[in-house]
Amino acid sequence: MKFGAKTALDRLDWRVPEGHIAAIMGANGAGKTTTIQLAVGLIAPTAGSIRTLGLDPDHDRAALQSSVGVALQSGGLYPTAKPRAFLQHIARLYSNPADVDGTLEQLGIDPATKTPIKRLSGGEQKRLACAAALIGRPSLAFLDEPTAGVDPVGKREIWSLLEYHRANGMTIVLSSHDPSEVERLADSVIVLRNGSKVLDCPLAHILNPVGAITILGPAHLDTQTLAMALPTGLGVFEVAPGLYRILGADSPAIASTAAAWAAQHGVSQHNVQSDRGGLEDLVMIAIRGAEL
Ligand code: ATP
Repeated sequence: MKFGAKTALDRLDWRVPEGHIAAIMGANGAGKTTTIQLAVGLIAPTAGSIRTLGLDPDHDRAALQSSVGVALQSGGLYPTAKPRAFLQHIARLYSNPADVDGTLEQLGIDPATKTPIKRLSGGEQKRLACAAALIGRPSLAFLDEPTAGVDPVGKREIWSLLEYHRANGMTIVLSSHDPSEVERLADSVIVLRNGSKVLDCPLAHILNPVGAITILGPAHLDTQTLAMALPTGLGVFEVAPGLYRILGADSPAIASTAAAWAAQHGVSQHNVQSDRGGLEDLVMIAIRGAEL
């Protein structure tokens, strides 16, 4: 996807399974919003193709409208409307919407408030934008940084609402800068860097409460040889080309086995790193790997 001379997305190949919460991460300008805008048909690709629920979002935007909910980073709210009237208006566009008052209450907004949307705080407007994306119970919802600027209580309210809708079959794509949010919510994550994907895997291949080791090396090494050298039960995954993750690694013996396997493949010690089994360190390594 190009904007003039700027390549905002470069051959992005990504699928989201039905019923998942899929997260897009990456630095400012990495291409997260562009991905969402393309998927909902707000912009048309300059090359390549996109299918949203099997339809071309550029040509079939009207057909998709009743099945897709969207919360962009800003905009989409009617400034002079009251929150309840606004949400009722959006709900009427869908055949089987959720309860308006219940949704407002779940997000900490008083349904009886007479405050126009433009006078709500930034965090309250963000909550309302999420409510608008979800109120129609669409099969697919896109949320661009849904909790940016929202306080910790509001974040949890939004997370609970997203989890509730996933439990009821909704597929959700969200962008986020917050690793703890992605760890808590997402089934899978992609990380973009300058419009290219540097990580694409399930959270189950990333997270482990015991700890993990990440190895940055050549792509498509035989992970079976590593798995066989390690104690049984440890997960070994290539989470992006050339990025290997050992889950459940908690001892110096495991670390030295990993280092020996890496050395056999010409990987320096510097590119074998232990962490606490979270997402944040892996994202940094994936971005560093793409820079090498
Ligand atoms: P952020 O975390 O800051 O929201 P992002 O990952 O969502 O960033 P995008 O908004 O997708 O980033 O932008 C990707 C790149 O494309 C940026 O360099 C941006 O400046 C550029 N870009 C996006 N939209 C346009 C446009 N309409 N015209 C020109 N350049 C654009």
